[in-house]
Amino acid sequence: TNIEDWARSDIYHNSFLIPQDPVLDAALKNSVANGLPEIAVSAAQGKFLHLQARSIRAKRILEVGTLGGYSTIWLGRALPEDGELITLEINSKHAKIAEENLHNAGLFPKCKVITGPGHESMVNLPSESKFDFIFIDADKPSNLKYFTEAKRLVRQGGIIIVDNVVRFGRVADPEQSDANIEGVRLLLNALKSDQDVDATTMATVGEKGYDGFIYAIRN
Ligand code: SAM
Repeated sequence: TNIEDWARSDIYHNSFLIPQDPVLDAALKNSVANGLPEIAVSAAQGKFLHLQARSIRAKRILEVGTLGGYSTIWLGRALPEDGELITLEINSKHAKIAEENLHNAGLFPKCKVITGPGHESMVNLPSESKFDFIFIDADKPSNLKYFTEAKRLVRQGGIIIVDNVVRFGRVADPEQSDANIEGVRLLLNALKSDQDVDATTMATVGEKGYDGFIYAIRN
């Protein structure tokens, strides 16, 4: 089966489960028009994150890696009236486009973009105000650094999700190596003996090809 078939599968399932959404479409359109790379989560994945956040009634969400705010909109919509989302982005152009898209989605200032290196921004967040849900989707070599800070910032029973951990199966192929693959391997090695979380990898296939999320619950 090739990637077109998997894209067709996403389109088929989405046609039953995910209504057309002018706000999300506009966010993608604005991102492409401004030259942002097309590396946002898929609609099915965005909705999956949204449902995960809703299922634990998340009130505070942290995202690392904003891009144009596509996943941010899915997650922001999972929040109750008095909820809050903070998303971290190093690229000021990405952050600006994300802010435009969040405004357009009616999610500003409920969803705030902090511009700067994600790890530094995380370190500056206080341990006292915990998050219910943290989504890590920035530079992959820093996965373990982000995950370590995420453990400090997430409440007990809260969820940490890390994107792009399967990478077309390359992470599991000993013949393959690059900085992104090694970033995932480093995280997996750390998780092996990590008593602070319970985790699993959920592989996904669809319009983005073969990939997967690590899903972890904070003990
Ligand atoms: N979560 C977004 C979505 O699904 O719509 C996609 C995020 S994209 C895969 C990764 C983003 O992380 C890019 O916008 C990139 O500029 C940002 N990024 C890269 N290195 C970073 C860093 N050190 N700190 C914060 N963000 C970073």
